[in-house]
Amino acid sequence: MKHLKINLLGATGSIGTQVLDVCRKYSEITINSAAAGRNIKTIENAAREFGIKKVCIADESLYNDLKTALADTSVQVLCGTQGLCELASDTAADMTVNSVVGAAGLLPTEAAIKAGIRVALANKETLVAGGSYIMGLAAQKGVDIIPIDSEHSAIFQSLLASSRPKEELKKIILTASGGPFFGKTAEELETVTREQALAHPNWSMGSKITIDSATLMNKGFELIEACHLFSVAPDKVEIVIHRQSVIHSAVEFCDNAVIAQLGTPDMTIPIQLALTYPERYETTAAPLSLTDYGTLTFARPDTQTFGCLRAAQWAAENIGTTAGAVINGANEVLVAAFLDGSIGFGDITRGVLLAAERIAVEKAGCTDAILAADRQAREYIRSEIKRGLGK
Ligand code: MG
Repeated sequence: MKHLKINLLGATGSIGTQVLDVCRKYSEITINSAAAGRNIKTIENAAREFGIKKVCIADESLYNDLKTALADTSVQVLCGTQGLCELASDTAADMTVNSVVGAAGLLPTEAAIKAGIRVALANKETLVAGGSYIMGLAAQKGVDIIPIDSEHSAIFQSLLASSRPKEELKKIILTASGGPFFGKTAEELETVTREQALAHPNWSMGSKITIDSATLMNKGFELIEACHLFSVAPDKVEIVIHRQSVIHSAVEFCDNAVIAQLGTPDMTIPIQLALTYPERYETTAAPLSLTDYGTLTFARPDTQTFGCLRAAQWAAENIGTTAGAVINGANEVLVAAFLDGSIGFGDITRGVLLAAERIAVEKAGCTDAILAADRQAREYIRSEIKRGLGK
């Protein structure tokens, strides 16, 4: 394995800690810098264990605490969005891994691309909110964006089967587990609890993405992400509910041959491949035993009940505008409100649809326009939550 040095943003979250595990297994992968949102103890421990030179805490109010915790070391401590961007663009590393949660990941992704550093992207909100701008910038700078999201990694891997994927690609088949509430009616969704929504049947992930999986907002975001990463129109992406999460997604070529990537639902595989691509190495993921599964099932998604998916389809049809930033900003506020108990599960969908319907969209040509739409959506939803979200 050749040596790889990374900047790791979102080091203490679900993806970040799994990246650290890959670094523990393969000493050729080292960490130049690492950032966390609020988790001081974990970032301090990581800095000591991996000999990290630079760390950043996104929450500026925790800067002094982290500085004190690392006072006996020579580790440089930064904070805030500016610190995140400084880490993301640190060219002492070969790659920036962005596993920040939410639209907060946009500016660091932009910073990495502007500095010409390859990006391994787990922060899907970057592409949902600002995909056209970010992909254009990456093309202009000749910077590769390697997807970490399991579905997009599967599509990326399946496309490797063709030497001319752009000409020969006919369709993408984006699979979805369906989340914990597959088959439920809109009425039943009104009364589900936080605990039920956080109990994903197949994947172990952070709380924000787990709620997004339960509303199918996550699949909607992945539709937008796929359109950007693989330059396809939304009508060329078929979403298929596949409860077992064994087929991680597939592509159909012009001759109707379908190539898919399969495996146990374990993020270790796409995470490690994003780091070592194009080479593959042993992972800690369990091997796939198809006969243990016996049956794989497929169904159409219920976009009538899962309105977040409908909102995302609308945003995908309006790619290049601030539509993605609007539904993402609204969704982030709604998910946080659901997690802290101030709104119900059905209110998330209600709020996302309200934002999509009421907020005018415009061209999303730069991060200022994208972040302005993001702020507008957040303010709108905060006031709508106080008014009861039109109930
Ligand atoms: Mg995914």
